[in-house]
Amino acid sequence: MYGCPGRGQPFFGKRLDVIPVGEWNIFPEGRPLMIAGPCSAESEIQVMDTARGLKSLGINVFRAGIWKPRTHPNTFEGVGAPGLKWLQRVRSELGMKVCTEVACGKHVFECMKYGVDMVWIGARTTANPFLVQEIADAMRDVDLPVLVKNPVNPDLDLWIGALERFMQTGTRKLGVIHRGFSSSGKIKYRNSPEWQIAIEMRSLFPELPFFCDPSHMGGDRQYVKEISQRSLDLGLDGLMIESHCDPACAMSDAAQQLTPEALGDVIRGLIVRRPDSDSPVYKENIDQLRAQIDAIDENLLYMLSSRMKISRKIGEYKRDNNIAILQTSRWDSVLEKVTAAGAGYGLPEHFVKAVFNAIHEASVQVQNEILSGTDSK
Ligand code: PEP
Ligand code: MN
Repeated sequence: MYGCPGRGQPFFGKRLDVIPVGEWNIFPEGRPLMIAGPCSAESEIQVMDTARGLKSLGINVFRAGIWKPRTHPNTFEGVGAPGLKWLQRVRSELGMKVCTEVACGKHVFECMKYGVDMVWIGARTTANPFLVQEIADAMRDVDLPVLVKNPVNPDLDLWIGALERFMQTGTRKLGVIHRGFSSSGKIKYRNSPEWQIAIEMRSLFPELPFFCDPSHMGGDRQYVKEISQRSLDLGLDGLMIESHCDPACAMSDAAQQLTPEALGDVIRGLIVRRPDSDSPVYKENIDQLRAQIDAIDENLLYMLSSRMKISRKIGEYKRDNNIAILQTSRWDSVLEKVTAAGAGYGLPEHFVKAVFNAIHEASVQVQNEILSGTDSK
């Protein structure tokens, strides 16, 4: 029975009662499942030009934001309902399926009026249970597939809670999109991947189609390929990528959008790891495990650098107060604490000690440099 301890009632049964994505009548056969289109629908010409370019790549599912949640007021907040007519034209002229973001019940009703094929819930909306409930209620008894993006904050439970709301109101064509999480620290990407959260979500609900949105995760078109590959390496099912016929002129998210041509290059360069690949099962498993290890290593490095920054601050504080670097009792108690905690995680004592001694050594060295005035920063 699925249910995290302390999370309240276990939810439904072992597996969610969802309809397999192959039966949604949205995506063509094969992997990755592809969704592409501009961040925002801006004009009929921009929508049609972009859609034609994508169609020629063999992409069959078109995205475009009609209502845009923007950080600042008085910026472009989407063209609103009139843009739905342009999506209708994409459907009828190009035979593509169309999807857009809904952020309240009214958006759902507008989408249904114009025959939108699928909707997604944006990261800011997933973080708001009242709005998710309103949308789920609006979709009650409607056969509309929905993809739920992760909330902006790295909270797996909040993400799962949104899925639960849709399940409870009868949505059975349900999937998720990983677009990364806001971070207060300075990181390479616009949103921190926190792959371990995606991996946990995937293992809890392997039956849900799982997309990655490398555009919002990376925040820059140069990262779309590496993030897409990473997510395919992890075995995710699909990609949602922003594409604009003229990215430089885009009214939102200009830096992260690719022309359809450039997107074609990215897609052709991707290595798709199919579960039914004829390569040996063993190799497939190893590759996926290694991708997880790489993601965790990246997190470890980030954590180590955060720890080092604090060590540096402590060094400066000791210097200003004329205090010696080493207080052996403090270090003894840290070692005692981490080896005990490590044992709780099943880690051998010698391993934990070796790791923490190395960390301590580096941090003493940094403080030494600070006290002696030889540090480079
Ligand atoms: C979007 O897909 O255009 C969007 C606003 O994404 P997110 O909710 O992930 O920020
Ligand atoms: Mn966008």
